[in-house]
Amino acid sequence: MAATTIPSVNLKGCEKAMPVLSMGTASYPPADFEKIKAAILEAIKVGYRHFDTAFAYGSEKPVGEAIAEAVRLGLVQSRDELFITTKLWCSFAEPTQIVPACQMSLRNLQLDYVDLYLIHWPIRLTEMVSKTPVAREVVRPLDVKGAWAAMEECQKLGLTKAIGVSNFATKTIEEILSSATIPPAVNQVELNPLWRQEKLKDFCREKGIHFTAYSPLGANNTKWGDNRILDNEVLADIAKYRGKTTAQVALRWVYEQGVSIVTKSFNKERMKENLDILDWSLSEEDVEKINQLPQRKGTTLASVLGPHDIVLELDALV
Ligand code: NAP
Repeated sequence: MAATTIPSVNLKGCEKAMPVLSMGTASYPPADFEKIKAAILEAIKVGYRHFDTAFAYGSEKPVGEAIAEAVRLGLVQSRDELFITTKLWCSFAEPTQIVPACQMSLRNLQLDYVDLYLIHWPIRLTEMVSKTPVAREVVRPLDVKGAWAAMEECQKLGLTKAIGVSNFATKTIEEILSSATIPPAVNQVELNPLWRQEKLKDFCREKGIHFTAYSPLGANNTKWGDNRILDNEVLADIAKYRGKTTAQVALRWVYEQGVSIVTKSFNKERMKENLDILDWSLSEEDVEKINQLPQRKGTTLASVLGPHDIVLELDALV
């Protein structure tokens, strides 16, 4: 079967279009180097061209090795055929640390540039942490304007084609926009049928910021997720009626929100299954049922860093 061609979206101020279905690389328990590398190569074979990594996932090096191998094997002619997103970790979020942190990610990835560089979370940690939760003293507010100016510098230096944010609420984005010379191209945030993010989605659309959904399947089998999407009866009933899987119904619903998607699977069959959402649609009735599902945020920063006041305040923002 031929590899699927994935549609792309143009990001504001970015010369390269971004494929709207991308492959995540955060795994739990963390997969080893060879497993991640093999999964990326397999994903390229089935048609993925956009990969989502982060310093914090420990996946930049295997992703970089997989890209180099894909070019060597002729799976892609050059790295330019791939769209690579990575993220600034909170321990390097002091403005002076940001350009060096981006350069470090580039070394990990063996790349001259990434396509998209995101601030991972709107918070700063005063040190590198290897275990979570972290002590209260380590957690500081982010100098939002200073950090954003340094992100702009990364783009001006050609280290990245576009810059954006992740897990940012409307208020923090407004703060960036009040002084930005390059507005964020993307906000990457949790979105799935059980966390619909209507306010943030509308806000981003209004401001021309592209919205990317992570954990579209509820991050099943990870420390930060559960089976609330894949075992949801409403989604399962729709899937049965349509001859699709519950995962495909969830992904199709997310796709119909006009956003792009980052989902993770290191299993070849599920990689393909997750791409098979482009040439069919949900009915109005399906959408109405899904839109009535009770809402629950899955990923909170407090569940990672600990229930510190400053963290809880951020989690409460929409
Ligand atoms: P997800 O994509 O919703 O779920 C991934 C889990 O679902 C994995 O356990 C995967 O296992 C399983 N899975 C995938 N396809 C499936 C299918 N068709 N049927 C059944 N199970 C399936 O969750 P996520 O990993 O949290 O989110 C995706 C990516 O978004 C991450 O990898 C990361 O790159 C990014 N992300 C970003 C942030 C952020 O703060 N910016 C936070 C979380 C995630 P198998 O591998 O075994 O298939």
